[in-house]
Amino acid sequence: MGADAYQALRGHLAHLRLLAAAEALPGELDHARDAKLSHTEFLERLLAVEVEASLARRRSLLERFARLPAPWRLSDFDFSAQPGLDKKLVEDLATLRFLDDATNILLVGPPGVGKTMLAVCLARAAVEAGHRSYYTTAADLAARCHRAALEGNWEQVMRFYANPALLVIDEVGYLPLAQEAAAALFQVVSRRYLRGSVCLTTNLAVGLWGKAFGEDTSVAGAMLDRLLHRSVVISISGDSYRMRAHRARAERLRGGQK
Ligand code: ADP
Ligand code: MG
Repeated sequence: MGADAYQALRGHLAHLRLLAAAEALPGELDHARDAKLSHTEFLERLLAVEVEASLARRRSLLERFARLPAPWRLSDFDFSAQPGLDKKLVEDLATLRFLDDATNILLVGPPGVGKTMLAVCLARAAVEAGHRSYYTTAADLAARCHRAALEGNWEQVMRFYANPALLVIDEVGYLPLAQEAAAALFQVVSRRYLRGSVCLTTNLAVGLWGKAFGEDTSVAGAMLDRLLHRSVVISISGDSYRMRAHRARAERLRGGQK
């Protein structure tokens, strides 16, 4: 390739912001010459470099946006510790088909049984598949909505929570929600209804939700209707994983002292 054509090509790539391709160009040209590639093969390889870079950029943006609190993946989850849990069902959820029809997931159970971990694993799978996801706790969501109401950008914040394909709302019910917070949560759930999936974790059996919503059973009921209409409910009733680990360590120590 003549020097002029080469410079012009670099210019085109830069103008089109195909920076990864521009950077790979000299190496790919050498390779094409050595391996006697056709024009088509050369161009395919060059553009593949750019496509890969663009996918990687998007993945890292989604990753930062999602604010997942831990790097957990489903392969880290120890199913043997939770024999009551339907492994097949969880693996089916990890295929992310549930996102297609905005199915919600409710993870219900006492502290320490892996609710947050499972929610985060599913959100990570979603991010890696290119779906916009976002993690929040119920308390953070309530605080942000409260600020939004004061600062006059309620609508903007509602759109923010409506937008991701998957919204994780962790720890619903740990703290009783004030009426305003319950209303905010209800709004978010309503906006997403049939449009985007919510993965919600809670320590409260569904029948006790009235309690978490300041005894306002009508808001709790309306929210549950929307959440449960198209949903998968997973109740985890096994032992706390943290306690299990403690016990195992204590037993090992005791054994070692003999
Ligand atoms: P929950 O949200 O139900 O209170 P977490 O998901 O926070 O529980 O789990 C508590 C801790 O135990 C976390 O560090 C989590 O990684 C770990 N854990 C819980 N269940 C499992 C499991 N089945 N396999 C591996 N780690 C687990
Ligand atoms: Mg948790």
